[in-house]
Amino acid sequence: MHPELTVVIPMYDEEQVLPLLVSRLRPVLEGLHTSYEVIAVDDGSRDQTPVLLQRYRRDWDELRVVRLRANAGHQAAISAGLMAARGSWVVTLDADLQDPPEVIAEMMSVAREGDVDVVYGVRTDRRSDSVFKRLTARLFYSGMRAAGAKDLPDNAGDYRLMSRATVDAVNALPEHHRVLRLVIPSLGFPSASLGYTREVRAAGRSKYPIAKMLRLSVDSLTGFSLTPLRLATWFGLGGFLAAVGLLLYALVAKITGLTVAGWTSTVVIVAAVGAVQLLCLGIMGEYVGRIYTTLQRRPTYYVAYDSLTGADAPSRTGTHPGRD
Ligand code: UDP
Ligand code: MG
Repeated sequence: MHPELTVVIPMYDEEQVLPLLVSRLRPVLEGLHTSYEVIAVDDGSRDQTPVLLQRYRRDWDELRVVRLRANAGHQAAISAGLMAARGSWVVTLDADLQDPPEVIAEMMSVAREGDVDVVYGVRTDRRSDSVFKRLTARLFYSGMRAAGAKDLPDNAGDYRLMSRATVDAVNALPEHHRVLRLVIPSLGFPSASLGYTREVRAAGRSKYPIAKMLRLSVDSLTGFSLTPLRLATWFGLGGFLAAVGLLLYALVAKITGLTVAGWTSTVVIVAAVGAVQLLCLGIMGEYVGRIYTTLQRRPTYYVAYDSLTGADAPSRTGTHPGRD
């Protein structure tokens, strides 16, 4: 009764790319000769995306639409899709065809032959991405690894295939604002990687402005690493050593009668110490904020509608992990 494969696709204002996506994805999935469902997670789109989705559903039984009540963001939309997915295997991909759907067949065979739970799609060729995107991506992956996320596969985005066991494990996590590309490797399940060429966005504009990219980076860092908190300790230690040095210097100056005209050094020290303290407070604030939002248990998304049940689903929110 449950399909073999679920394809989860988050979409936010993707009316321009949707026809292209359907015409490329559908033949690929039909060529697999297994049962499947496609879950289009409409992340509160304000354009014609929901209308188009309903139209495609008329002659595509396998297409299922989960509409979120408001824009919840890429990661939350994928989480909503994972919660709704019924397949024994679940693949997540972007709507804009940057992740070529043809790779799904290969992912399935890699997973079955290698007997692994996760197959990461790894971008071997990012030439289609802008210089800025590639630079920030490199910073993200090396930064995260330096901060302790050791098992993070390089250049693995959100194009991946997961077994039912993996999806259940992710759904059971209580964590808020989780970054799936870090959470899934951290489970440590048997995995494999599959290289693919990242294509250019087929139509429409990117829905990832710098503010969202920064948010993702801060969520990644504070969700996975305590290293930034320890920065305060290192700054403190450095400050202490500098203070000891200064004390010795002051004593020597006093004894030799060389009194210092100390305005500049005083101002510099005060400013530097103040800046470091503010930085450390800000870092602590990020973690405290994370604890705070997790304790509030406020949902990260609200499901407005699921075409599988047909009715409104007010009880289905991001707060109550677990399959229904
Ligand atoms: N997306 C979403 N909600 C958002 C922003 C993006 O569901 O708030 C979807 C978007 O429709 C696309 C995927 O997430 O399917 C990746 O977004 P995009 O291609 O704009 O990001 P980029 O590739 O530029 O990083
Ligand atoms: Mg994209």
